[in-house]
Amino acid sequence: MKELISEKQIKSRVKELAKEISDKYRGKTPILIGVLNGSFIFLADLVRELTIECEVDFIKISSYEGTRSVGTVHLLKDISADITGRDIIIIEDIIDSGLTMNFLKTRLEGANPASLAITTLLFKKEVARLNFMIDFVGFEISSEYVVGYGLDLNQKKRNLKSIFRIEQ
Ligand code: 5GP
Repeated sequence: MKELISEKQIKSRVKELAKEISDKYRGKTPILIGVLNGSFIFLADLVRELTIECEVDFIKISSYEGTRSVGTVHLLKDISADITGRDIIIIEDIIDSGLTMNFLKTRLEGANPASLAITTLLFKKEVARLNFMIDFVGFEISSEYVVGYGLDLNQKKRNLKSIFRIEQ
């Protein structure tokens, strides 16, 4: 494993993202929807840097086994909140192929929120197939498999403080 993004870099970028989000949603109370499991650390750090009111909810889906996408998305746990007429921000750890985000966006938009924005800590922009913009991006990375700061390798390594790439 080789360190790709240090703890210090993550902290500073999370603060910047929180400021951007706070500025954009000033006077509003968005619901941040964390995509489990990978986003739990990012979401926890991000909300503590926000200077606006917010609510937090979670959705759980699966598309990966080990280091490979299985190509289909399954909903494992739905949100609890009623998001109709609310400002929604999806909080994702990483966008790779875009399969998950396409699924999530379509599904959540079906409940008619007032607005829907997407935040991702990591974005594999070169490989992602999306026909919409990502509103808040932490870091753009190449298409390597990364772990740490919530991101797993077979459910392990999520507790690492920095982000590492796996060297084959
Ligand atoms: P996508 O649907 O965009 O291909 O992938 C999104 C999901 O796949 C992420 O939420 C994450 O769970 C998983 N994933 C994609 N790339 C990586 C990676 O490099 N490392 C880890 N740990 N998970 C990844």
